[in-house]
Amino acid sequence: MSKEAAKIPDHRPNNGHKKIPLHDAIMSGLAVMHLKYPSLLRFDEDCKEKPDKLNNLKALYGVEQVPSDSHLRDMLDPIETRYFRKFFTSLFSYVQRSGRLKQFEYFEEGYLAPVDGTGHFASGSINCQECCVKKPDSKNPQYYHQLLGMCLVRPGKKEVLPLAPEPIIQQVDASKNDCEKTALKRLLENTSREHPHLKLVLNFDDLYSDGPTIRLVKSYNYSFIMVAKDSSHVSLYEAVDELDARDKVSRYEFTDEDGFKHWFRFVNGVSINKSHKDVLVNYLEYVSVSPKGKKYVNTWVTDIELTEESVAKVMRGGRAKWKIENETFNTLKTQGYNLEHNYGHGKEHLATNFANLTFTAFLIDQIEQLACPLFQKALAAKKSKTALWHAIRGLFDWFLIGSWSDLLKAIIEEKSICIKGLISDTS
Ligand SMILES: [Zn+2]
Repeated sequence: MSKEAAKIPDHRPNNGHKKIPLHDAIMSGLAVMHLKYPSLLRFDEDCKEKPDKLNNLKALYGVEQVPSDSHLRDMLDPIETRYFRKFFTSLFSYVQRSGRLKQFEYFEEGYLAPVDGTGHFASGSINCQECCVKKPDSKNPQYYHQLLGMCLVRPGKKEVLPLAPEPIIQQVDASKNDCEKTALKRLLENTSREHPHLKLVLNFDDLYSDGPTIRLVKSYNYSFIMVAKDSSHVSLYEAVDELDARDKVSRYEFTDEDGFKHWFRFVNGVSINKSHKDVLVNYLEYVSVSPKGKKYVNTWVTDIELTEESVAKVMRGGRAKWKIENETFNTLKTQGYNLEHNYGHGKEHLATNFANLTFTAFLIDQIEQLACPLFQKALAAKKSKTALWHAIRGLFDWFLIGSWSDLLKAIIEEKSICIKGLISDTS
């Protein structure tokens, strides 16, 4: 990360000569998110009060000088958000090179990748040039920022791998607010450019299951699984019922070893709706009942061929959509990360840049959990992420840390006192 941060061009006159390097501001911002600091001010005060912190920041994040909280905001605000994409691509290629991407393989058609939007800022007064605005001409305009996220997931696997999120923000020369659907066009364009050989099965909610979106997804040769509610797919449901009356629709059911009953009703090659008759989808209706009688019902459309052999797999892929809602967005808002917290809004790109740094911190932690035995042992020792973040912050605050491995070993061995001096290992 430190190497990528150093490549981001300095926007200041004279390239920031004799000033705090932009690299140090970016890595300080990342440290705030990664160490789950509640505010920039607290970080700033801690750095001033506890000189060991500077040693620790240097050892763990490569930071030599820490700007004050307001200076940090001023330095991060003008950076064009696209420069942060490199964090995501370099972390992704690390996972790829290490061979661990294979752990996410699920469908032959490609990696399962849920896509969804979420808000990370809303205010009636604070705003910037990138804010979208509800009721702009009223007395009470509402300013907001959202983003469109995409993660690689695998059913049954805890970790998720987010790709660079696409900001849903005011676009230059746009006559109306940006939205999830237009952000999707940019997300797919950026993803296919940065990962030209990556095959994906995109997983969407009902908002996206229409002709134009399916055409867009297929134009990149991606596959899809999309929720298709009856209220928004009247003609699709009628067409399936019509086919059913002619015995063209298949049914399949089984009870699994945990006592859950699963029912499937499916048919391949139906038009998504009347206005896009040439957009054919495979329709999968699903009901499950738990041993305690709890019912789950959903319907998806997909381009993956549905057979008795494939329906359960497609259903599990469809249900993995919650991994972006719950295991990604909810985690980023409630589990120590502060995606919705206002660290400072700025005038240009600050709010979006902070959201990107939060996502980057989350991705680093996910990769540590996936790939680092020391992190896995430390997590097992602390039993929960919240307890682990607390332990990391505690050691960072009060001891001189030489490296991440020293810090994690101290947590595993519960001998924080063993961290005695700054050593040169900063791996
Ligand atoms: Zn804004």
